[in-house]
Amino acid sequence: MPFDASPAPLIDGFGRPVTYLRLSVTDRCDLRCRYCMPERMTFLPKKDILSLEEMARIAGLFIRHGVRKIRLTGGEPLVRKGVMSLVEALGQHVDSGDLDELCLTTNGTLLSRHAEGLFAAGVRRVNVSLDTLDAARFRYITRLGDLDRVLEGLDAAQAAGLKIKLNAVASRGAFEEEVDDLIRFAHERGMDLTLIEEMPLGDTGRDRDANFLPLWQLRRDLDRRWTLDPLALSTGGPARFVRVQETGGRLGFITPMSCNFCALCNRVRLSATGKLYPCMGHEGASDLRAALIDGDAEVLRTIRQTIARKPERHDMVGQDGQALALSRHMSELGG
Ligand code: SAM
Ligand code: SF4
Repeated sequence: MPFDASPAPLIDGFGRPVTYLRLSVTDRCDLRCRYCMPERMTFLPKKDILSLEEMARIAGLFIRHGVRKIRLTGGEPLVRKGVMSLVEALGQHVDSGDLDELCLTTNGTLLSRHAEGLFAAGVRRVNVSLDTLDAARFRYITRLGDLDRVLEGLDAAQAAGLKIKLNAVASRGAFEEEVDDLIRFAHERGMDLTLIEEMPLGDTGRDRDANFLPLWQLRRDLDRRWTLDPLALSTGGPARFVRVQETGGRLGFITPMSCNFCALCNRVRLSATGKLYPCMGHEGASDLRAALIDGDAEVLRTIRQTIARKPERHDMVGQDGQALALSRHMSELGG
C-alpha cells in the first residue's frame, strides 16, 4: 500500500490538529531590525538552505495531511531569488481547494514589485511589519530601511486587491507616543493593526529588558484614550482582538511573554534549512532535509513524530518571572 493512501490528519499528543504551516523561505533580510537581529548578522550558508522545489514538496505533504493554511515568512521572504515560483506552486493548492489560504509576512520593502504577482498566484492577505510612521525612526529601528518604499508597497498591495494587516513590535519610549498614529493610519486605510510583545529570541546586542513593554501596560494606557470593545474573533492564533470604537477598526494584541495562548495552537514552523519546529518557544526541532533523501514516506514519518512531541505550551518566562532567552533569532523562523 502506498504510504499515504489514506492521508490521516496531523494531530499532536494533546489532541490539537495541526492545520497551519509557517514556512521560512530564507533567513536573509534587507533590513536589520534592532529587536530581530544584530547589525552584523551572520546568515546561514546558502548550501544549507532548502531549494524552493524542496519547500514546495514538503508543503505538499503537509497539505495532503490536513494543513489548510500556509504563511511564507523569513527573514524577508521577498528577498529570496525566485520566490514567486514557490508562491505560484503553492497557489495551485489554493486553486484546487486543498488549501484555504496562502499568505505572507513581509517587511514591505519589495511589495510594490510583487503585489500583483502575489494576488495573481492566489495570495489574498499579507502581514506587513511597520513599527513607526516616522521616517527617521524607521531608519533607526530597521538600520537600513526607507519608510517611503514600505508605504509605496502598502499602496501597491491594496491596489492589487490584497488585504493588509500591520504588525508592530511594541517597545518602551517613542512607540508609546506613536501608537495612536499607527492606529489611525491603519484603520483609515482599512487595515487591522496587531501589536506584538518583544520576544527574547537570539542575541541582538539590544538590552531586551530596558526596551520591553508589556502589552497589558500599553493596553491600560490605550484604554484611557480609546474605547476598546473586546471581540470574540479567534484565528486559532495568539492574537486577541478589540474593536476601536472611534475608528471602527480592529486592533490585536500578541502577548507571548505575559499571556498563554497555547491551548489553541494549530501551527508548526519549518525553517529555511528544513528544521521542523513544533513550538516557537522551544529549541527542539527535527531535520526534514535529511529525511528528504529517503523519500516522502520518511519525511511524513518525521513530521508525525515531531508533531507528536509538540509541547503543551511554550515557556518564554521562567519560574522566577525572568524572560527565558532562546539562541535562535526571530529571522530563522519568522515568528
Ligand atoms: N521580514 C518579515 C517581517 O519583518 O515582517 C518577516 C519575518 S519577521 C521575523 C516576522 C515578524 O516578527 C515581524 O512582524 C517582526 O516585527 C517580528 N519580530 C522580529 N523579532 C521579534 C522579536 N524579538 N519579538 C517579537 N517580534 C519580533
Ligand atoms: Fe528582517 Fe523582518 Fe527581522 Fe526586520 S523583523 S530584520 S524585516 S526579518
